[in-house]
This record gives sequence, C-alpha cells and structure tokens, in this order.
Amino acid sequence: MRSSLLFLSMAATLATVTACGGSSTTVTAPEIVTAPVQRTIIMVWDGLRPDAVNAVDTPNLYALRQAGVHFVDNHSTYPTFTMMNGSSFATGSFPKTSGFYGNTFWTPPQAGAAQPIPAGKNAGGGNQDYNAPVFTEDYAVLSTLNDYYGGQLLLVKSLFKTAQDAGLKTATIGKSGAAFIQDLGRGGIFLDENTVLPASLVTDLQAANFALPKNTPYAYAAGAVTLAASNGDPTARAGALTFALPNGLQAKDVTDTTQGNPEDAANKYMMKVYTDFILPKKLPDLSLIWFRTPDNTQHAYGPGSANYRKALASQDARLGELQAALKANKMDANTNIIVVSDHAHSNVSGPTSLYPLRAITASTSVTNGVTNAVLGNRDAINGFSVSGDVRTADLLTYAGFRAFDGNGCSTSAMYGIKADGSNVQPVGVDTTGALCGTANAKYQAISATLPTPVASFKVPATMPAKGIVVAANGGSDYLYIPDHDAATVAAAVRFLQSREEYGAIFVDSRYGAIAGTLPMSMINLENATRSGKGQPDIVVSFNWDAQQLVNGLPGIEFESTGGNRGMHGSFSPIDVHNTLIASGPAFKTGTVISNPTGNVDVAPTVAYLLGQSMPQADGRVLNEALVKPASSASAVVKAAVVNPTAPATGLTFKVPTDLTGATVDAALSNGSYSINLMVKDLTVDGKTYRYFDYAQPVRN
Ligand SMILES: [Zn+2]
Repeated sequence: MRSSLLFLSMAATLATVTACGGSSTTVTAPEIVTAPVQRTIIMVWDGLRPDAVNAVDTPNLYALRQAGVHFVDNHSTYPTFTMMNGSSFATGSFPKTSGFYGNTFWTPPQAGAAQPIPAGKNAGGGNQDYNAPVFTEDYAVLSTLNDYYGGQLLLVKSLFKTAQDAGLKTATIGKSGAAFIQDLGRGGIFLDENTVLPASLVTDLQAANFALPKNTPYAYAAGAVTLAASNGDPTARAGALTFALPNGLQAKDVTDTTQGNPEDAANKYMMKVYTDFILPKKLPDLSLIWFRTPDNTQHAYGPGSANYRKALASQDARLGELQAALKANKMDANTNIIVVSDHAHSNVSGPTSLYPLRAITASTSVTNGVTNAVLGNRDAINGFSVSGDVRTADLLTYAGFRAFDGNGCSTSAMYGIKADGSNVQPVGVDTTGALCGTANAKYQAISATLPTPVASFKVPATMPAKGIVVAANGGSDYLYIPDHDAATVAAAVRFLQSREEYGAIFVDSRYGAIAGTLPMSMINLENATRSGKGQPDIVVSFNWDAQQLVNGLPGIEFESTGGNRGMHGSFSPIDVHNTLIASGPAFKTGTVISNPTGNVDVAPTVAYLLGQSMPQADGRVLNEALVKPASSASAVVKAAVVNPTAPATGLTFKVPTDLTGATVDAALSNGSYSINLMVKDLTVDGKTYRYFDYAQPVRN
C-alpha cells in the first residue's frame, strides 16, 4: 500500500482553559503522521438520469448505490450542459468563480487587442473558426482558449492541479473536451478520444502495443508521433440510424433496436488502456473517467428508447471492468468510486397539444445507416415526437433583429408536424447558392421569406450596431449583444417572453432590473473578468414539461436546432436533477442522503478525501456522506421560490406552431410573464449554499 500523504494530527495539539476565565494554551509541535492515500476514481456517466439506475439495466451501478451513498437530490450546474458541468467538476465552482461558459460560447472580438479573437487548430488538425461561437468539447480548442485567456480559461485552481501540487498522480480519460478541462495545465496522464498526453505516455503505450487515438499526432510537432500501420481508429463511433420523413428529411429512428451504443468500441478501448496499463503501471491517486454514454445515445434516440437501454448496459459493463481491475490489482479495498452524471436528459418535443406524438412503424432493415421505419398517424400513448427544434437566430431575424449563430443553412426533422399533418417549417432549396453559399443546399428558415432573405445566419467579421450573436446550446441559448445596447437587450427579452418556446430568462445585471427576468448573478452566471469577453448578456432556457411522457419517461423540452431526440441544458427539474453515487472506504455504507447536493460539491469533497482543500470553491465538502467528516454539524435546509421584482406585462403570446408570430395564444389573455425559480438553501457550519431545483416560466 502506498503511503505518502502527510496529515497534521489534531490529537497532538492540546489546549487548556483555566477555570477563572483567562486562558493559557499549551501547544505541542504538530505531530506529522503518514496516512495512506485513498485512491479516488470519479466516473462520469454523461447524461445519466437518476431513474435510469436499476438492477436490470445497470446491475453494477445499482449494487454500488446499494452498497455506498446515494445522493437523491443532486443538482447539475445550470445551464445543464456538459462542459459547464465539466468546469464545475474541475473547480467545484459556478461561472461566477470559474469564468467558464460551456458548451458553445462566443469570444467577442476585442477591438485594439493584439489578438482580437483566438486562433488555432482543433483536435482533428483543422483551423478552428473563432468568428462564430465555438464548441468547446475539444482539447485543442480548450488549449487555444486557455492561451487566449492567459492561462486563465478557468480562473481558479482546479481539483487536479490541487492534487498534482500535493505530489499526487492523476489521470483523466475519456470524452473529448470534458476530460481535458479537468487538467488544462497538462500536469497528469491524459487519454481522450483524440489524443494522448504527455509524450512519454505515447511512447509507453506504443511500447506496450496499444493503439492510439487516430488524431494523436496532431497534438505534437509534425513527425514527432507516428502511428503503427496496424493502429486503426480505436475511438471511432458510429452515427445514428435514420429514416425518411414524408418531407424528405431524415429523422433519427427511435424504433431501432440494433445499434446499441455507437461508441461501445471506443469506450472499451479507453477503459482497457486504463485498467491494463494506466491503473497498474502508473498508479494514479486521482482519476476521472468520463464517457459520453448514455448521453450520445439519448441525443440520438431519446431517453427510454431501446438503444438507450443498450447504452446503459454498455456503460455498466465498463464500470464492471473497472471494478474487476481494482480487485485484480488488490486496490478495491482502498479505492473510492464516485459515479456522477454531468446533467440528466429529456426527450425533445414541443407540447403534444400542438404537436401530437406520432406512431412510427418499427424498422426491420438498415441500409447504409437508413432504416425502413415509416412515420404513421397520431398516437398519444405510444407515439414518438417529431417536434421541439427552435432556431433562435431565425426567429429573432424574422422579428426584425439582426441575429447570427454561425451555423449555416440547415434542416431538422424535429421542427414539428402540426396536428393536421402539415410541417411547421417547409424545406427550401437554394438553387443558386445565394442564400447558403452552396448551390442546391437545403434549408429551413422563416427568415428566408423576408424581402431580403436570410437562411445561413453567418456571423459577420464586423458586427452591425444592435447585432445579436446566439450561441445555440441545446436546452438553453446564450445571447450576446456585443455593443451592449440596452434597448436591444430589453427588446430581445420581450421577444423571448412573448414566444412560448422559451422558458426562464436571465440577464446580466449591468442592464438593471428588467421586468419578468432574473439577474444572471442570481444563478451564479456573472463574472466580471469575462464581462464582454465571453460572458453572455442573456441566458434563456427553452421551455419544458417535466410530466409529459415520451418513450415511457417523463420530461420534454424544446432545443436549439439539432434534430436530436434527446437534449439537456434547460432549467427543468428533469435536466437539473442528476445522478450522484459514491462508494469506498471514505464513504458510509448503505446510506441515502436527502440533503441537497450539487456537482460543485464533488471537487471539494474529493480534495478532502485526498487530504487537500479547495477554499476557493463554491461547493462544500459532503460531510454527511463520509466516515470521517471534516465537520459533523448538521445542516438546515430551507426551500424558497424566487421571483423577478416585477412581472412583464402587456405581452401577447405567440404559439410555437406559427414561426411568423402572427398566431396569438388566445388562452393567455392577461399578457403577463414571470419566473418561479425554486431553490433550496442549505446552511451548515455558518455558511449557506444555494441549490437550484428548476426555473419555470409563468405566462398568463
Ligand atoms: Zn453531457
């Protein structure tokens, strides 16, 4: 057993208090004792809903939960995106402290700066465009951004740096971007879907006859890393299977039962490198293993689908392999395993009253990724969604704003089929290429019907006055108003409030109180260092319904156009309430914790397990779960609802089935919009920690 960590023994410090009230203190020199490091492994199951854990689909995780600690009220950091929560795991903090805004965010050009916008390659070796919002699930993009921000992409010290500074060995494995942000400083071992760090690990793995991720050479100087002829593409993953809708677009085939987990082989490969080489040979004290499962399958087929269950089984098998390796190496007794998801997951759909669920005749064959499933009639009970996609830049542009998202001409099978069978958004063809830049490109954009048609929403190099850049992110969108024009902000808020696709709206407090909104500071999203340099001006959740069943599971939401069947990122209670389970020598056994907890609490808790601390973190040590807590004080929890100072009034509400905004919702005639933000405040040891349960728009 490895023994390296130094603890100060409190038992060696003696204090005496005299009876007459004066005090004299006798302090002996601290006795330095060595305690064994408890190896800790954080395993992130991307997008795992708590209700996915059961004895049939996830037997290993279910057993781990029964044996250890089950946190039943855990909270993802809002916006409930992957990289947002990646930064919370990295720093134990919210953006107000970390300064990070994932997944997709924009770096507004800094006029007069030596480098107005970032520049660099992506993991595949291509040039990354930073004129438009950038997707941060990429180690090379994160490295470019970290350089651009002077090594301060994360403004506070991370858990991994904390461990490394204490002389502990670390390893991060898995999903592109999400794994890398844990160790931006490259102080430990790193293997993701694209590359391997440091160079010595490349040498070690090749010497041990392991294949490397296909893009590994791009992380090194030209010619420095050469893949073996037999290397192949060990982290390849399959695309989703689709079927044709009557309008000619391809929808993801939710009825498919054949594909299973598209990244099954990639995850097996990465786990094998970890269990067969990194764990036994490099002996990491702290590891984070983050696989994109079941998230990727949920995006494709929706939570509850047959392939979702296969993805759960795949991920559970990886946990089983990890546990077996710990046992084989006699490490199981002194290793803590924390299984956590970054966020939960919802099915993508608009309200079924507007967009009835529809039968899909199950596929029986697949040809080149396309199945022979057939869209059928309305089926409220067993039907599937063909709605839920929203393009904010398009709706804003049609409404008279100058909005851009950088996503080009696009189509989506999920724009919605109305009750009468007609499509919300017809498919256009740009025969000349004038709209899309490519002749005969297909597009769907209501703004293409304007006198000056718009369909691609390319971000101009020089923004027009009052322009808006939308970073489309799935269950929530970021809006940037680079000239910070207050009237544009106010008008954009009124627009979002008036359209029923949108949920709760949060605005930078620099604009003062805006009726029917909450300040971004209220939910820890304001960061002075990033103001005008990456922090959005408006954050808006898409609307959601936590009760509606699709695929037998509750929870639907609108999403930024992506054609997905599953999404997250919203402020719904379904997306927010994610999975947290912990087991091992540091944790109590067979314990259910009902106190609110959050993803921000994971890093400070793990730091404590490693004999370290993260005083800069927003989260807390989850003492109530520990055998040897730092404090045994009991917590007081109070729930509350937070509302805007005043509701917005005088609105007319526009139904989602009419993108022009001409159709007003006659059921909501008061014209009032507000927000119910549900919170829980946990007070312990003199400090209060706020957890956000959900934020619901209230229109009437
Ligand atoms: Zn995720």
